[in-house]
Amino acid sequence: VEDVNYERVLKKVAAYVEPHFGSGQVASYIPPLAEVDPRYFGMALYTLDGQLFVTGDAHKRFSIQSISKVFALSIAFNLLGDDVWSRLDREPSGTPFNSLVQLEVEHGRPRNPFINAGALVVVDILASHFAHPELAVMQFIRRLVANESIDIDLKLARSEQELAHRNIAMAHFMKSFGNLQNPVEEVIKSYCHQCAIAMSCAELAVAASFLANRGICSTQSTRIVNAGQAKRINALMATCGTYDAAGDFAYRVGLPAKSGVGGGILVVVPGVATACVWAPGLDKAGNSLVGIMALEQFAKITGWSIY
Ligand code: GLN
Repeated sequence: VEDVNYERVLKKVAAYVEPHFGSGQVASYIPPLAEVDPRYFGMALYTLDGQLFVTGDAHKRFSIQSISKVFALSIAFNLLGDDVWSRLDREPSGTPFNSLVQLEVEHGRPRNPFINAGALVVVDILASHFAHPELAVMQFIRRLVANESIDIDLKLARSEQELAHRNIAMAHFMKSFGNLQNPVEEVIKSYCHQCAIAMSCAELAVAASFLANRGICSTQSTRIVNAGQAKRINALMATCGTYDAAGDFAYRVGLPAKSGVGGGILVVVPGVATACVWAPGLDKAGNSLVGIMALEQFAKITGWSIY
């Protein structure tokens, strides 16, 4: 690791993207997300020796949305090991996160756990182990951050659930192929609630540190997943974490990442640190536009890359 002043690095990154604050489109298909001020910008960096560096709105909580898929997968992977792959694949989809097209050709078997279809299968796996999978995910996160105040935004969850027609269609479709064991309504409800967990950049960076630390949560020194699983979750983030823009993201940033339509992007620097950026305006693929600009600059300054 280079000896760099991370405080200054984050300041430089924030100054670099400042002219672009507010760029992109906030997600409008989940009505409460459309009301979020697009000019927010926050970034946090959490090093494996336990230091936290922040800039801007790094302590303001936002809707983690698809970033929750990383935590849900971690629980399922730890429970089932490689058996999770009996019901879903681990290939980039090349299609948008909410696309239905591949599912028919591929007989209801999702391409990866980070597109919506795959995440619904992961929720279904959890639903066979927990009465309330979304609470299992929330408690898992609370434990990782050592913060009991992390919660689900219920208003947002209900709003998404009411308008979840496409995800409901996807779930029924997979069920018709026998790839969903629990009732569609239950899986959708849990999924929408899991996506509505609210966290800050600082909390997300801390929560994900086990992925940079060979599966061990650095705040608790407890094993969350084994080292091989941590490596593989990172590999999935690198190849599928930003959907059909994963190639461009790898080219520009070069680190495993998971985005959400709330405008957050969680990043893992294996063996070194975790980072999270938040800027609500999205690009066409549904990833934070200013967030990617910030991470591109951040990777350039630190020289961090897995490639
Ligand atoms: N809850 C969102 C959805 O299902 C999550 C999508 C995302 O963050 N990319 O559409």
